Order: sequence, then structure tokens, then C-alpha cells
Amino acid sequence: MTPFPIILSSPSGGGKTTIARMLVDRRADVGYSVSCTTRQPRSGEVHGRDYHFLSMGEFTDRVGRGEFAEHAQVHGNRYGTLKAEVERVFATGRHVIMDIDVQGARQFMASYPESVLVFLLPPSADVLVGRLTGRKTEDAATTLRRLQGARDELAEVGHYQYVVVNDDLETAYRQVASIVEAEAVRHSRLPRVSEQVRGIVGALNDLIQKSPGH
Ligand code: ADP
Ligand code: 5GP
Repeated sequence: MTPFPIILSSPSGGGKTTIARMLVDRRADVGYSVSCTTRQPRSGEVHGRDYHFLSMGEFTDRVGRGEFAEHAQVHGNRYGTLKAEVERVFATGRHVIMDIDVQGARQFMASYPESVLVFLLPPSADVLVGRLTGRKTEDAATTLRRLQGARDELAEVGHYQYVVVNDDLETAYRQVASIVEAEAVRHSRLPRVSEQVRGIVGALNDLIQKSPGH
């Protein structure tokens, strides 16, 4: 089976990081693409694990060198997925889970059209606000900017192949994991089906030839 990218998008606070982490922790066939960003690290975030934290100058240089599979300005900071990061995960034979915004998803699809697009919907506006503020990672101005951005993100849901409501976390996780399972057996991702069928038909022909009633 050929590994593929899985893009998770949602408004900020929608649960992308949480569900991406669960997939990577619970499934040996999924690896995380560590993005680059110019935003400041939050407390507890580790360079190289959560993000590659870059200066604006370094980010711009890497854009100039064509190192990004996609990049975008989100909530006033720059974010991007390195081509090398995607290839690093593919080289281990795993699917690549990516937590990226709607603009980035669109760009990424142009280079990797085999990607699976999953949108996480919050169960309600109140719940979204509660989760975003409850995370206590943003000040009031940043939270407001993210809620304003949420309206633009939600407007893009029509471009996504799957929509999962992140109400109960385990249910949402199970649904995303089921999408990965189903996509892994999509006919177009299975390079050896014709060969397998030829093998089975050949063996059946032999059995039929040898059967007493033939
Ligand atoms: P995102 O990466 O989309 O910004 P996070 O994964 O950081 O969102 O989730 C935002 C907050 O909501 C986090 O504190 C997370 O623990 C919490 N959270 C995520 N999903 C659920 C859920 N289904 N139920 C309760 N809390 C959740
Ligand atoms: P946060 O600052 O909360 O970690 O992420 C803010 C937003 O940036 C989220 O919508 C997240 O999906 C998006 N984001 C994170 N990494 C990338 C990336 O590599 N590319 C793009 N386009 N968006 C990203």
C-alpha cells in the first residue's frame, strides 16, 4: 500500500493537534509532519517536535529556496510544510498526518492530489470558544483574531472530503482513524491488485483443469 498525506484542518481550537497526536501515538502506520512557523513557542512546545520555530528571515530564505510544499500566513504568522519533512515520513512507509490551515491544504493538494482532506467541526461556537480559551495559550487579542479567522476557515469546509464533528474526543478519533483505514484500501492506492487477481485466476484455472469433472 502506498502511504498518503492526511490533512486535518479546523478553526483554531478545533482539536487538530489533539487528534493528530492521538493518531501518531496509537497507530504505527502514521507519522507527523512537523511544520515550520514564525510564531513564538508556547510553554511546553519543543523545537523540532511541535514545530520548527524559525525567524522571519530564515522562513523567507527557505521559501526562496523552494523548500516548502506549501506555506501560508495564518493569524498574523507564517506557517509552512517542508517537502523534506513529508518525504522523511513517507520514507518510513507511514502516512503523513498534517495539521495545516485551509489555504495550505489547497496548495498542498496541487502537489499531492492523493491527499485525504478531513475537516474537524466543533459541535458549537460556544464549545469552540470554551476550548480555545480553556487551552490558555493565547492572550485576549490573539484569541479574538483566531475567532475571526475561524469564520474564514469554516467557509472552506466544502473543499473537504470528510467532515468529523469533534464533540466526544474518542468518537472523533475513531472516525478519523476509520477514514485512514478506508483510504488505505482505496482501489487507486493499491498498486498490485491486477497482479493479485491474475495470480488468483491463474491458480483457479489450474484447479479447475485438474478437477475430476473437467
Ligand atoms: P487545534 O490544534 O485545532 O488548535 P487543540 O488540539 O489544541 O486544537 O484543541 C484545543 C483544546 O481543546 C485543547 O485544550 C484540547 O485538549 C481540547 N480538546 C480538543 N478536542 C476536545 C474534545 N473532543 N473534548 C474536549 N476537549 C477537547
Ligand atoms: P497554531 O499556532 O495554533 O499551532 O496553528 C495555527 C494555525 O496554523 C492552525 O490553523 C494550523 O492548522 C495552521 N498551521 C500549522 N502548521 C501549518 C503549516 O505547516 N502550514 C499551514 N498552511 N498552516 C499551518
